[in-house]
Amino acid sequence: MKYDAIIVGARAAGSPTAMLLAHKGYRVLLVDKAHFPSDTVSTHYIHQPGVARLVSWGLLGKVADSNCPPISKATLDIDSTVIKGSSTTEEFGEDAYSPRRRVLDKILADGALEAGAELREGFSVDQILMDGERVIGIRGFTRNGSVVKEFAPVVIGADGVRSLVARTVRARTYDAKRSFSCSYYSYWSGIAMEGAEVYVRPRRIVAAWPTNDDLVIVFVELPRDDCEEFRVDIEGNFLKAIQQVPGLAARVSLARREERFYAAADLPNFFRRPFEPGWALVGDAGYHRDPVTAQGITDAFRDAELLSAAINNGYSGTQPLEFALADYERQRNQAVKGMYWLTCRLAAHRIPGGRLLLWALKGDQAETNRFIGTVVGTSSISEFFSPINLLRIIGKRCLRGKSSSRPAHDPSTKPKFTTPVQSRNCLHRT
Ligand SMILES: Cc1cc2nc3c(=O)[nH]c(=O)nc-3n(C[C@H](O)[C@H](O)[C@H](O)COP(=O)(O)OP(=O)(O)OC[C@H]3O[C@@H](n4cnc5c(N)ncnc54)[C@H](O)[C@@H]3O)c2cc1C
Repeated sequence: MKYDAIIVGARAAGSPTAMLLAHKGYRVLLVDKAHFPSDTVSTHYIHQPGVARLVSWGLLGKVADSNCPPISKATLDIDSTVIKGSSTTEEFGEDAYSPRRRVLDKILADGALEAGAELREGFSVDQILMDGERVIGIRGFTRNGSVVKEFAPVVIGADGVRSLVARTVRARTYDAKRSFSCSYYSYWSGIAMEGAEVYVRPRRIVAAWPTNDDLVIVFVELPRDDCEEFRVDIEGNFLKAIQQVPGLAARVSLARREERFYAAADLPNFFRRPFEPGWALVGDAGYHRDPVTAQGITDAFRDAELLSAAINNGYSGTQPLEFALADYERQRNQAVKGMYWLTCRLAAHRIPGGRLLLWALKGDQAETNRFIGTVVGTSSISEFFSPINLLRIIGKRCLRGKSSSRPAHDPSTKPKFTTPVQSRNCLHRT
């Protein structure tokens, strides 16, 4: 066969997988119906673990050179209880970045090309070819309509949440949860920002952060039940949502919107079994979660490394391929277990620890940074949100002084918090 692997989809998951396999000397065909550079509906915040992978692949320089500023500070404001922290970590060292997808995906596709993969843009796969139960190749057509078949021992679906590869092989879905939300975003010039800002308000999550070319992306996520009504007047409802954050609304009112609104609805949460003989899945095709924690690109990068290492182990005879791919699935699931839980809770506006935790974090920068690290992916979620740790943090705050004001209690405006620690005894001492 001409190729060792065919990869369908050449964005956050497909291009790095192709690049890493090509670096190992494999013959890789990478196809995408899109041409690059091109956008896709997705915001593009890359947390430090994802940035660290760009560094190790030698691609961060190109991102930084694209007039994309580093992001080192984060502000989280839950119903006006505010904590500020640094999202830069000792372990990963790097700042976060948020390159536009048309910038990032081009850099990734070029990386695959430079590593020796063959890239076919404007190539739309319409059929996954099977021999009995086994996938053996793809059929697709080029922009000028010619139909082409290609064959390889493994076809990798990096073709996104609605993956044709996954549908064709009926990949088993597990631990699925319904779609909790929909989201809207656009880009403004002339907004001053100091890092990333995230605001949780009743039935709305609002976020803003800098991206390429001195633009700021402003993002609103809302519960699924509100989406239909929101859609009736997107601009009006978007502005209404950010008016719940007067400081940001004031800056937006003085700024200029440079692009249309982008919308994303039906954002399911699921795992798919990512392999069987002849095929594998990577990125959103294999694991999808709500965008609220901005993990998809970072996840895709990690899984590109895990999958390419598994295929290399199988092809080189280090391990039977099937065992290597089973390890890939295990490692992926282990890596995202806590984040999947956290993401689904945040998407459902169920903030672990809620305002009580935020109150306890105030004035404790080390714990605040650890808390921010749970979303960044640099602190252990299960450890941080364990009842014993939450009790410890709240206890520390109680001991820090009676003078501290306790969190305001206003049930009418409060989002639905989950408070793992029920005892508020220490609060009565204030
Ligand atoms: C509103 C929203 C906001 C988000 N914000 C963030 C964020 O801030 N940070 C973050 O990390 N993640 C974010 N994500 C998630 C992120 O977009 C995805 O996790 C990421 O794009 C997954 O990359 P992928 O390569 O797996 O799939 P995709 O980016 O979906 O790429 C799939 C590619 O496959 C190609 N393809 C599909 N079918 C075929 C076919 N039949 N033939 C040929 N080509 C095909 C497509 O053209 C496409 O280029 C967000 C998602 C949404 C919806």
